[in-house]
Amino acid sequence: MAGHRVRVDLPHRITVTPAEPTGHRLALGLDWGVNTLLTGTIGRLTEHGRVVTDGRALRYDATPISAKLHRLRGHREHLAARRDRYTALLSGLPATDPRTAKLQALLARTSGEHDRVCARIRHLNKTLAWSAARWAVDQATAVQATVVYVEDLATLQARGRRKGNARLSGQVRGTIVDAIVHLAAKAGLAVVTVPARSTSRHCPRCGTGRTELAHVMAPDRTHQRGWKWATCPRCGLSADRDHAAAKRITARGLLAQANVRTDRKTGRHTTTAVVEGNVATVRRTAPRPVTQRTAAARVAKTGPTPKRPSASKLSHRVPDRRTAPAPPTGGQRPAGQEPKNHHQQVVASGPAHDLLKPQHHRTGFHHVRATPVIPLSGDFGPGTTRPRPARNV
Ligand SMILES: [Zn+2]
Repeated sequence: MAGHRVRVDLPHRITVTPAEPTGHRLALGLDWGVNTLLTGTIGRLTEHGRVVTDGRALRYDATPISAKLHRLRGHREHLAARRDRYTALLSGLPATDPRTAKLQALLARTSGEHDRVCARIRHLNKTLAWSAARWAVDQATAVQATVVYVEDLATLQARGRRKGNARLSGQVRGTIVDAIVHLAAKAGLAVVTVPARSTSRHCPRCGTGRTELAHVMAPDRTHQRGWKWATCPRCGLSADRDHAAAKRITARGLLAQANVRTDRKTGRHTTTAVVEGNVATVRRTAPRPVTQRTAAARVAKTGPTPKRPSASKLSHRVPDRRTAPAPPTGGQRPAGQEPKNHHQQVVASGPAHDLLKPQHHRTGFHHVRATPVIPLSGDFGPGTTRPRPARNV
């Protein structure tokens, strides 16, 4: 019951056509980071069999949520210990003892609190996992990638790295993978796991298994503990180690498409061989210049003045500036504020832009920092359909 309404949690099934595990050219590779929960990169397989990337790191940083989960787990242990202590004390007392009633009340209260904390942890784990999965699938669909490569959790756990209090349990990662598979199926994307072994050991630019990366303190986060930055002594690469690992994961997935095995029972796809290849960073092609139609519209006004797009179609993306140029010779001006020349429009993206922009992907959490989902034009995506503000004529 919710107020005067009955809410029903109704599971249902829909039919989807399973995406092919092979034959992909544009992929999203995801790394279970030391710095972030997920770090992704977009990779493209060229006609010559090379893997290239646009150099943009996609981050889903859930550090505050991990810390919260850690605190809650500590609280849960504390309550469990108290509950066990009360149970032990009660077992040694006869029922007629005057202290029994008081202990029973304490036990009931502690047990109730313990159950509530357990439920809170479960709920937070689940919400975080689905939020991260939604973000990952959104990033892939924004650039029209057709496959998501994730590290194989079985090989990841065997490695036993990434311990520590603020890290997320392997269980959360398992839930994230399940959620990604579920959401990707709906979006028509394939999810393929790749071997996780030594993805962060070798250089993604010159490595192919020979040069070992040096892990150092991040140059902009020297106050933080841990070796979060990777430098290559051979080619001089200097990058976030999770981003470097994500590049290798993307390359392993795209290059080993001939070695994909599909589990008959679960339908999950696994890359069985490690095929290493270097990843080159290439420029995304420049955004398209002003089209002829917009240029013509500036000269002569034909037809009615375009209206501002309706809010329902574009939801929160409605621009606060006008999307159509004002007619040069009289006539009704379009809706929205007059475009300002000094307000530089961000057409590029990258670590700097993504971090400076105050708006983040809507994760449902206040403190999670996630790279916003932007459809980018060029070789790594179809470009945005979002109306661009016109320049001042
Ligand atoms: Zn290198």
